[in-house]
Amino acid sequence: MAQIRVENLRKSFDQFTAVHGSTFTIDDGAFFAMLGPSGCGKTTTLRMIAGLELPTEGKILLDGEDVTFRRAAARDIAFVFQLFALYPHMNVAENIAFPLKCQGMAKREISGRVQETARLLRIEHLLSSKTSKLSGGDRQRVALGRAMVRRPKAFLMDEPLGALDAEFRHLMCSELRELHDRIGATTVYVTHDQLEAMSMADQIAVMNKGCVEQTGSPQEIYDRPASMFVADFIGSPPMNFLRFEGGLRTGDRAIVFHDTSFAVPEIGQDCAPAPLALGVRPEHIRFSDAAPVRGEVFGAEYLGTTQIVTVDTAHGRVAARLPSSAMVRIGETVGLEFRSERLVLFDVSSGLAIP
Ligand code: ATP
Repeated sequence: MAQIRVENLRKSFDQFTAVHGSTFTIDDGAFFAMLGPSGCGKTTTLRMIAGLELPTEGKILLDGEDVTFRRAAARDIAFVFQLFALYPHMNVAENIAFPLKCQGMAKREISGRVQETARLLRIEHLLSSKTSKLSGGDRQRVALGRAMVRRPKAFLMDEPLGALDAEFRHLMCSELRELHDRIGATTVYVTHDQLEAMSMADQIAVMNKGCVEQTGSPQEIYDRPASMFVADFIGSPPMNFLRFEGGLRTGDRAIVFHDTSFAVPEIGQDCAPAPLALGVRPEHIRFSDAAPVRGEVFGAEYLGTTQIVTVDTAHGRVAARLPSSAMVRIGETVGLEFRSERLVLFDVSSGLAIP
């Protein structure tokens, strides 16, 4: 298996730059997701790692070795395009064997490799089955087997579950993660679906407009978003931003927000007076009569155990996640209390979190 490192990777197509100098490391054996909206450069980055696209600038290192100019076939990386696209006229064993046949490997060796792959994936009993008769999970295993049989150093997957309906996709996500844990192969997984990335990945790179905005564990990205973009892209509903004007000093443990002092996590840098935003996740808000931020309840969306209550304040509409047992009346005036240790401050002009 392999560690993958991308250094200052850039890709331009004529005048248009699709990827602006990305740098990140994918640990050996990690499940790494590249997450971002359509057109942010995920596929282009993945294709450069695979060797299907040449970078305009930067380096790709595989286990410390520079493979930037090495052709795709010589990189030992499997690009899995579609986890369900199997050859229908071949049985399971023939499907898995196909890439080795194309390489001209001897029959006996192919047979050994197919058996070993099937054992790892626990599909030995299916080897002579027709692929059309397989369940979705088994089809996914066979497709993965076809990629694994060449013993690649890493797997690259581009929205492999994109064509499936939501419920089936959820099931396949857990299957895929379980397979990854068993095989332990470095996997790079491209998706625009934050729930998919959050539930499957050890590490996530969040991309926006060709730039990596943040890399970190799902929890780091959720709890300490590095930018307003990340805070807004991750979480449903997303983080609330309450805008205000203010200056900060290193070591401050409170901010003055509309004449009221709010406790915040210790400020790590000076910040001249500027437009700032107080970021608060919906689940870190509760109603309290004494709270200084007040507003009028606009609506409530029932979600089973919780409800999302929207409140119109002087700082914009704020979404709060409350227990569904909480009594809420549309139009009533409420006070909003925030869990101070979970607040994140942003500089609005740069869009970056203030450490
Ligand atoms: P999606 O999820 O929609 O595939 P993505 O994040 O994977 O999006 P890319 O496919 O990497 O994004 O594309 C990034 C940008 O680069 C897009 O604006 C796309 O139109 C552009 N692009 C990609 N390939 C080419 C190409 N061969 N020539 C010109 N522009 C390209």
